[in-house]
Amino acid sequence: MSIEKTDAIVLKTVDFMETSLVLTVFTRDLGKVRGLAKGARRLKNPFETSLDLLASIKLTFIRKSSDALDLFTEAKLARRFRPNSRNLRGLYAGYYVAELLDAMTEDYDPAPKLWRLTDLTLASLAKRGRVGSRVFAYEAYLLDSFGEFPSVRNCVECGQELPLDRVDNLARKIWFENDRGGVVCRNCLARRRTLGLVSTTIGALKALETARDAARNMLLYNVAFEQNLEDQYERARNAPATTLDQIGRNAEIVRESLDSETLEKLETLDPGARRDLRELMNRYIMRIVRRPLRTANWLRYATGEDGAPTRDDVKTLELSEA
Ligand SMILES: [Zn+2]
Repeated sequence: MSIEKTDAIVLKTVDFMETSLVLTVFTRDLGKVRGLAKGARRLKNPFETSLDLLASIKLTFIRKSSDALDLFTEAKLARRFRPNSRNLRGLYAGYYVAELLDAMTEDYDPAPKLWRLTDLTLASLAKRGRVGSRVFAYEAYLLDSFGEFPSVRNCVECGQELPLDRVDNLARKIWFENDRGGVVCRNCLARRRTLGLVSTTIGALKALETARDAARNMLLYNVAFEQNLEDQYERARNAPATTLDQIGRNAEIVRESLDSETLEKLETLDPGARRDLRELMNRYIMRIVRRPLRTANWLRYATGEDGAPTRDDVKTLELSEA
């Protein structure tokens, strides 16, 4: 048994007995962890109502050496995930991020960069737009970090390079082997009967690469940004509170502009390419996690590739939730 303290994001909560919760959290230092929060549903408890879905928390827990669930002993809220009522897209996308992350990760497999990107993504989904682009960037990074990023430039069978950059027609069709995770050239297509072939477009593949680059840049910018902000606060340690407030406000403006810059290329992509990429991701990710994700149904509303949900859609979603 050892006591651990780490930042964490709540991915799943299930009621347990009369007053407790079983939680799945994704921690900065230890990866995914499952544990029991005794008495978390009592009025007075050591978790200060911080254990909401997708909340970012500071968690203390006892790591059990046996198969028993870890024991969560204390949690403090760092940030609640609470998009306002007009931001349903951000809400649905956040739930999808949680389900996807849970499905892709194993317990106790540390991935601090992924933790950071998840934290950034959820913070942004809760307050800003660009939902579709953020989800693409997140998915691309997740696939990349688990070695599942598809082969988009070379035939997955023979390795031959395909002339992606020489094709300007983004709507041009290309075959993608869903089971092996990559494009197939004409020769290989003619030579063998491939299973799990799906049709996609050059535009979707280029968009996928752009999404991966955006996520990588987002991480780079943010590490530098956080460091710089810390230095500024350090230098202004003895300054009056108004100066500190000003530093915080300026930082927020810089953060916004870095954020727009990082997502700009992805935002301005051809809408057809984005739609094709959404379709490809849904199929490919379902293959990787070996089951349909419940929240993937919400994604077409969340990412706005398919218009806003109608009242009937929302009813259907609520029914499938129940
Ligand atoms: Zn080939």
